[in-house]
Order: sequence, then structure tokens, then C-alpha cells
Amino acid sequence: MSLLLTGSIGLDDVKTPQAEQHDLLGGSASYAAVAASFFTPVNLVGIVGEDFPKKFLDLYRKHGVNLDGLEIATGKTFRWSGEYESNMNNRRTLSIALNVFEKFNPTLPAQYRSAPFVFLANISPQIQMHVLSQVTKPKFVVADTMDLWIDIAKDALLELLTKIDCLILNESEARELMKDASLIKAGRALLKLGPKFVCIKKGEHGCLLFGKDLFFSAPAFPLEDIHDPTGAGDCFAGAFTGYLAKTGKVNADTLRKAVIYGSVIASFNVENFSLTRLQTLTPAEIESRYQSFRQMSHFELH
Ligand code: AMP
Repeated sequence: MSLLLTGSIGLDDVKTPQAEQHDLLGGSASYAAVAASFFTPVNLVGIVGEDFPKKFLDLYRKHGVNLDGLEIATGKTFRWSGEYESNMNNRRTLSIALNVFEKFNPTLPAQYRSAPFVFLANISPQIQMHVLSQVTKPKFVVADTMDLWIDIAKDALLELLTKIDCLILNESEARELMKDASLIKAGRALLKLGPKFVCIKKGEHGCLLFGKDLFFSAPAFPLEDIHDPTGAGDCFAGAFTGYLAKTGKVNADTLRKAVIYGSVIASFNVENFSLTRLQTLTPAEIESRYQSFRQMSHFELH
């Protein structure tokens, strides 16, 4: 089943302790769309400025991403720059310019409105809600968010939580939103705010999935070298939702597999800057790492 996906699309400047790269393809929707495209067709909703390089439109097309819902507006593309500390976990945002996103008020193409699966990648909860309100009868809606929206748009975010099926967020965001240091308590408390499932990402320590009758803890793939962690969370969420859309079913079994596929794609993405690694990623590599995940966490009963 196809996936409707919205979020930021931008040009990033990224600095790590080892290297610095500029004018990279970035944005939550870019990472999520390419990650999801390994599993299911993606209908993208977003906005870029006239300065957005054609090579990046070609990159989306190469992954079969439908661009009927992509607006090319007068003005400049969203820009973000960030710098990582030596542990590659802590990141400082150096600058952010919403640019064309300040006036983003999309009208969904008619053929997008019947989408069964929806992923609202990180962008303001108001835009996420506006897009969702145009989908006629979604079967499963997943949303991501970030600390910025918890700080400046908490009411809109809380309203969004009543309209979605699954929330994906980082451990620090879960603690901040629920004002609880315990991730277990925060995850369970988040379920009471609306979503049926909550996925808390713990970076290099994996993630936790909560549901009413479900708890699943998955490790992250143990990589020796991380070149650029940017977009790992977006890739996780895009592949997670893309896999569910591919199966068309949401149950404990498909959700667990979706978490592992999300972790697999995220682990490949951090091996290089921007979306470079996913350009050469093959289905065989995905399956091989999925099997490694299985072996890595498997143990006998006795
Ligand atoms: P992540 O590493 O998963 O947090 O995602 C990084 C991506 O998020 C970068 O490519 C940025 O362009 C994008 N980004 C940064 N800040 C924002 C924001 N406030 N809203 C939407 N996207 C953002």
C-alpha cells in the first residue's frame, strides 16, 4: 500500500569532528521518503524554493518518490546547519531558516487523499495536522516530532496526539514531554494521550516500542564508525512506516519487524553524509543486516 509522507525538505550544512559538508540534501521528509521507498511507493508532500538543486529532485525520482505534492515556490529552500561533538551523539543546531516553509499551506493532490498509511515526519504540528486533515480515511498514522515543538507548540502537539496511531520520538523528548525521567513511565503515559503505540528512540542504544498489550525493546546495530548521524531518526521512522505500509497490516508481529527494518535502514544511513549511503543500498544488504539483527539478539530458552 502506498504511503503519504510530509515533513521538512532542506539543504543542510553538517560538521562532524572529522569532516564538514555543505548544501547536502536534508530535511526529515527527504530521509524518511528515501528510507520508506525501499518498502513501498511514497507520495511526498512538501515545499522547496527555486534554489533547490535539480539533482535532488532526480534523486527522489530515482527512488520512485511521487512528487505531485511537492511545491516549488518563489523564495529559498529550508536550511539547517548543525555540528556534532566528538561522541557523535550530542548535536548543536548552528542555524535554521524556515524560508518557504513559513508560508507552507499545502492542498493535497486528489489522488493522495485516500492514502491508507500516513507518516508525518518532523515539522510543525500545525502543518502535520493540516496535511492529516485532508486524508479521508487513514488506516494508520505515524508522527515524529522534536524538542522545538514541545517548547513552542505543545498545545498543537497534544491535539495531534489525539489524531494519530503511533508517535515516534527521542528519549530526551519523551522525558521532556512527560516530565518523567523514567522512559518506561513516559512511554506508558504517552499512550494515555491518544496514540495506540509509542516508539522511543535511544540513539546508539536502540529503541522501545510501547502498546497496550505490547512492549518491544530492540538494540541498535553495533557500528564501529559513524560518519554522520543526521537523519538516522527520520530514516528509522520512514522505514518503520514504509514496512507497515508494504505489509498493509499492523499487529505485534509486523510492528516488531518494522522496528528492526527501521533500525537497519538507519544504521546504513549513518555510514556516510546525507543520503549518500542509501543511494547504493541494495535489498540484499538490507536482508543481510536484518538477519544479523536477529542473530545478535537471539537466545535459547534453556
Ligand atoms: P534528525 O537527525 O533525525 O534529527 O533529522 C535531521 C534533519 O532534520 C536535518 O536534515 C534537518 O534539515 C531537519 N531539521 C532540523 N530542524 C528541523 C525543524 N525544526 N523542523 C523540521 N526539520 C528540521
